[in-house]
Amino acid sequence: MRPSFIEVDLNILQQNLMLIREHIDNRPVMAVLKSNAYGHGLVRVAHLYEQLGVNSLGVALPEEGIILRKSGISLPILVFGGILKEQIPELMEWDLEFFVLSFEMLNYTEKFCKTQNQFAKVHLKIDSGMGRIGVIAENSKSFIASALDSDHINIKGVCSHLACADDPEDPMTHEQIDRFLEAVSVFEKLGVNTPLRHIANSGGVLYFPQSHLDIVRPGIILFGVYPEPACRRILELKPALTLKSKVSFHKSIPPGFSISYGATWTSKNTSEISTIPLGYGDGYPRYLSNRGEVLINGKRRPIVGKVCMDQFMVNCKYENQKAGEEVIVIGEQCGQSITVEEIAKWAETIPYEILTNLNERLPRNYIN
Ligand SMILES: *Cc1c(COP(=O)(O)O)cnc(C)c1O
Repeated sequence: MRPSFIEVDLNILQQNLMLIREHIDNRPVMAVLKSNAYGHGLVRVAHLYEQLGVNSLGVALPEEGIILRKSGISLPILVFGGILKEQIPELMEWDLEFFVLSFEMLNYTEKFCKTQNQFAKVHLKIDSGMGRIGVIAENSKSFIASALDSDHINIKGVCSHLACADDPEDPMTHEQIDRFLEAVSVFEKLGVNTPLRHIANSGGVLYFPQSHLDIVRPGIILFGVYPEPACRRILELKPALTLKSKVSFHKSIPPGFSISYGATWTSKNTSEISTIPLGYGDGYPRYLSNRGEVLINGKRRPIVGKVCMDQFMVNCKYENQKAGEEVIVIGEQCGQSITVEEIAKWAETIPYEILTNLNERLPRNYIN
């Protein structure tokens, strides 16, 4: 196996789920596993959650849902992404639930299912303020009524998405919840059962109990990572992912010796430079050139020079390393740790982007 690889601790994933369930009074959970389960490996993680009794899975693409079905997952799977009508037959074929985003899509789905004599399992998507997809809350009454009138539409849920829930102080979330509940009240007014109401992403789960409703849709917190580096850590979640490597090459350099493409770093003194066989071709941000750090022997070692596609260099000051020495790029070593949140801060992005960029070139190894 490659010396650079991802290790996922399944026991930590289980503990995180327990903490989240406790926090939401054991409400149902839809585990969100889009983008390769936030880099943790879609299929293995989905099977773990199925074992742990989560109620359903959420993915972004029909393709992700199909991979899960082919791997033997029988839980309900909801496809979140904006779906074009030509994707509907495939969703139906693989028993995937999907968001209905518009009147047009509702009508098309009804027509298609009528000709096939099938029933689509859908969630009606209301835009309560995210401004991405869905019928805006003001028009939701007639949308819901049309869905109820459609004979081949099985309304499993009605849902919306929060735009600002990672900030507990932001009033926007309360406005969105109110708007959503107002829209959803149409079911009751029409005298029919209300389907599953859901709006809570990780931020909602953490900071807005009013958003928990009938089922929650956490993604990033399942993996022990907070949505933003600045988020208040109200649950003892632990990161499940470690990114490891090994020193592949080590050299001592004299003063005035420069490192990597563009020669952007030059030694002032005699220095000890280790090479790590990992790069932006694996999803490690090139932006961390001359900015990031890794752990070797429990010490932080700064990246020097540009991160290359498959390798980068770190400065070990005066300490000589040997090839084969363990390197922690994300995770813990000797009581020290580098978190995804910290890397996101260095890279001026959010933890989501760091995790989901870790690509298929890195083998995934599962422990516990
Ligand atoms: C990604 C996503 C989630 C999960 O978001 P997190 O912030 O990772 O919890 C929930 N719902 C929808 C519709 C999403 O697209």
